[in-house]
Amino acid sequence: EKKSWMTRLKAGLSKTSNTLSVLFVGAKIDEALYEELEAALLMSDAGIDATDYLLTALKKKVKEDKLLDAAAVKAALKELLIELLTPLQKPFELGRHKPLVMMISGVNGAGKTTTIGKLAKHMQSNNQSVLLAAGDTFRAAAREQLMVWGERNNVTVISQESGDPAAVAYDSVQSAKARGMDVVMVDTAGRLPTQLHLMEELKKIKRVIGKGMEGAPHETLLVIDGNTGQNALTQVKAFDDALQLSGLVITKLDGTAKGGVLAAIARVRPVPVYFIGIGEKIEDLQPFVAAEFVEALLG
Ligand code: GDP
Repeated sequence: EKKSWMTRLKAGLSKTSNTLSVLFVGAKIDEALYEELEAALLMSDAGIDATDYLLTALKKKVKEDKLLDAAAVKAALKELLIELLTPLQKPFELGRHKPLVMMISGVNGAGKTTTIGKLAKHMQSNNQSVLLAAGDTFRAAAREQLMVWGERNNVTVISQESGDPAAVAYDSVQSAKARGMDVVMVDTAGRLPTQLHLMEELKKIKRVIGKGMEGAPHETLLVIDGNTGQNALTQVKAFDDALQLSGLVITKLDGTAKGGVLAAIARVRPVPVYFIGIGEKIEDLQPFVAAEFVEALLG
C-alpha cells in the first residue's frame, strides 16, 4: 500500500525528477551544471529565493566536502532539500482538545471538499467522532450533497439554509460540545484571495469560532492545489496574512505538479504541511514527510 501512493507521488513529480536525474548523469561539476540546475529548480516552481538558497548552499558543500562526481553532488542536493523541507513536517495530532476545532479554507477547485472527506475518514479510523459545519451557505446543491455524504459516512453535518457562515460555525462548535464530539471541521466557501471582502468574512468566521470556544479554532488550515505553481505560494501568503494559518494540505501531487513550490513555501512562508493529497479517492491522503517527498523528487 505504501508503495502504491509513493508510485503515484513519483509519477506526479516525474516532470521535475526526470529533468533533475538527466542533468546529473555523467555530468562534469562546473558552472554549466549549476546553470542547468538553476533552470531546473526554477522550472520546478521553487522560485528565485529557494533556488538561490539551494545553489549557494550546494556550491559551498561541494567545495567543503571536495565532492568530485555528479552522483555525490546529487546526493548533496538531496540532503539540502530534506534539510530545507523538514521544518514543514509536522504530525497532525488528534485528541488535544475536545472538540478539536478546525477551520478549513481554500480557493475554489483546490480540492477542499475532497480533502475534508479524506480528513474525516482519517480521523474516524483513529476513533474520532467528526462533525462538519457546512460553511458554504451559498449553494443549496452543495449543501444537500454534503448532507447525503455525511449520512453515508457517519459524519454529522450541520448546515443552515441561509444566513451567516460565521453563525453556522458558531452553532456547530456549540453542537459539537453538547454532543461530545471529538472533532469539528468548519468548511468555508471557496474564494479567491483577491476578493478582499471574502477574506474579511473568513476573519470574522475565525473570530466567531473563538467566541464559541476559548482558544479555537485550534487549527486553521489552507488547502492548496499543488499544480498551481508559484500561485500556491501567493495563496499561502494571502491566507496566512489574514488568518494566521496553522497548517497546509497540498493536493493533487499525483497530477502534474512540479513539487518545487514546497521549497518556496519553506523559504518564504514556512507554514507546516500536515498532509499531501495524492489522488481523488478518500484514502489518498498522506502525512507529509520531507525525506519521502525528496525521495520522490530526486530518486
Ligand atoms: P473544492 O472546490 O476546493 O472543494 O475542490 P474539490 O474537492 O471539489 O476538488 C476539485 C477536483 O480536484 C475534483 O475533481 C477532485 O476529485 C480533484 N482532487 C482533489 N484532490 C485531489 C488529489 O489529491 N489528486 C487528484 N488527482 N485530484 C484531486
